[in-house]
Amino acid sequence: SEGYRTMKTPSLNKGLGFTADERNKMGLKGLLPPAELTLEAQVQVTMEEFRRKSSPLDKYIFLQSLQDTHSTLYYAVLSGHTHETMPFVYTPVVGEACQKFSQIYRHTPQGLYLSIDDRGELRSILDNWPQDDIRAIVFTDGERILGLGDQGIDGMGIPVGKLALYTACAGVHPDHCLPVTLDVGTNNQDKLDNPYYIGRREKRTTGAEYDAFVGEFIEAAVDKYGKAVMLQFEDFGNSNAFRLLHQWQDKVCCFNDDIQGTAAVALAGVLASTRVTGVPVQDNRFLFLGAGEAGAGIAELIAYAIHRETDKSIEECRKQIFMLDSKGLVCKSRIGGLQHHKIPFAHAVDHTVDLLSAIKMLKPTALLGVSTIPKSFNQSVVEEMTSLNERPLIFALSNPTSKAECTPEEAYTWSNGTAIYASGSPFEPVELDGKIYTPGQGNNAYIFPGIGLAAVASGATRITDLDMYIAAKALADAVPQERLDSSCVYPHLENIREVSLQVAMAVTANKYATGQASVLPQPVDLEKHIRSVMYEPTYT
Ligand code: NAP
Ligand code: MN
Repeated sequence: SEGYRTMKTPSLNKGLGFTADERNKMGLKGLLPPAELTLEAQVQVTMEEFRRKSSPLDKYIFLQSLQDTHSTLYYAVLSGHTHETMPFVYTPVVGEACQKFSQIYRHTPQGLYLSIDDRGELRSILDNWPQDDIRAIVFTDGERILGLGDQGIDGMGIPVGKLALYTACAGVHPDHCLPVTLDVGTNNQDKLDNPYYIGRREKRTTGAEYDAFVGEFIEAAVDKYGKAVMLQFEDFGNSNAFRLLHQWQDKVCCFNDDIQGTAAVALAGVLASTRVTGVPVQDNRFLFLGAGEAGAGIAELIAYAIHRETDKSIEECRKQIFMLDSKGLVCKSRIGGLQHHKIPFAHAVDHTVDLLSAIKMLKPTALLGVSTIPKSFNQSVVEEMTSLNERPLIFALSNPTSKAECTPEEAYTWSNGTAIYASGSPFEPVELDGKIYTPGQGNNAYIFPGIGLAAVASGATRITDLDMYIAAKALADAVPQERLDSSCVYPHLENIREVSLQVAMAVTANKYATGQASVLPQPVDLEKHIRSVMYEPTYT
């Protein structure tokens, strides 16, 4: 019957939500028990079942199965309980899911798997996907999944999870979203040895062949979906990530979330700190522990922000930003051996290998950890920052929780409650001498869904540094005063849909102002227009 096929279509299924009238008309009688539930009641009963699952991976699988069978309910659960469910759709649990993805594969297409063996056919393979009006693509080659390294094709969990957040956090319509994994092999020996591994059982292809494959995919996507399709690079290895971004960012509508999304979130934290300290971004001195994708991305965007605020040249602005990598301070004497992305921050200062002496020498106001080295912000480091600054900025951004450079409790205790602390992973508030301090989570989910919504609403043809800066400012402005009063520089995750809308409005306005919008003519009321394209999980 028509009803049976409807129930088997995830986006049309309502489960017990079908009304008596629908059951009669669609031939659903007998296929359902008599009870009727509203979507709200279904969300409640689903959350109870979710909470009963004891292991994090079981919670992940439970939510994924819901997406496969009853997607309206899935998005209603995610939108209504974002704070509670996000860790099981995205970091940290999606990391475990990727590690075991081949073993928990569920026999339904969640996205496209494109193999380098399919070179020459990518454009026609796109026609196999059931939706043709794709506006947002998240794609990975699985080489650097979260902090877990090469997961090969099992990295598919990441684009699936990120796009679920596009929908849950910003209302990008799920039919417009396409997760893609490019399978170029894996260098992860455990995967290659695993008899159940679902990917290509070869070492990674690199070099010109790799670049041509990525290029073929991007061009196929633009050919099929148009120049306004947004392509988000996700979890590529460090050298490919920078190279591909530079190669494509001026040609198609794309961005790299690990580099640019992270940068916007961290910059937002810095901009919001001004509302606590009164110190504008240009009056800070920044020291980074870690100079990889996240570190270089944040540093470049901070330099850009200072440039916008002061009209100093970018080169001049970079001079108040310093970085340490695994070999110590990035500086002029090392310039011959440095990776490309570090060279702009190699200043004429003495080389030092350790963080504490770099702090003593450079006297930073802000310390940012993107090193993956836990406990590297130790007591002497935090105390030195405290003696230099009234309100030191201490951002320990490494993920997952176990990798954080320091915990909030340590930062607040060693700084006598003066630190403005943020982390990459979620932490609970801390009570110190009767005062509550709330650690902010510099979660990329504050930025990328709003960027995606803006791209869809405006038909953006490019994503630029200016967009990222504008998104960061919108996020900083969205932090409520009571959060700032407890030393927190990010809004509450429960309010993420509203925050995403603010980010999207600012970026959409910029797309029209810079002539990079293709949804024309420009809508008179931008907010109304953006709200009108936002997907609401409801039964119609
Ligand atoms: P990455 O590209 O691999 O960079 C890691 C950097 O850390 C490299 O520059 C590396 O030095 C440096 N490093 C390693 N050991 C070090 C040591 N002992 N002392 C100083 N520096 C050291 O990784 P990434 O993508 O930038 O990510 C870094 C961390 O940031 C991860 O834990 C990730 O989870 C986190 N992150 C957080 C957010 C967020 O909070 N929203 C977003 C993105 C990433 P070399 O260059 O010399 O190898
Ligand atoms: Mn990522």
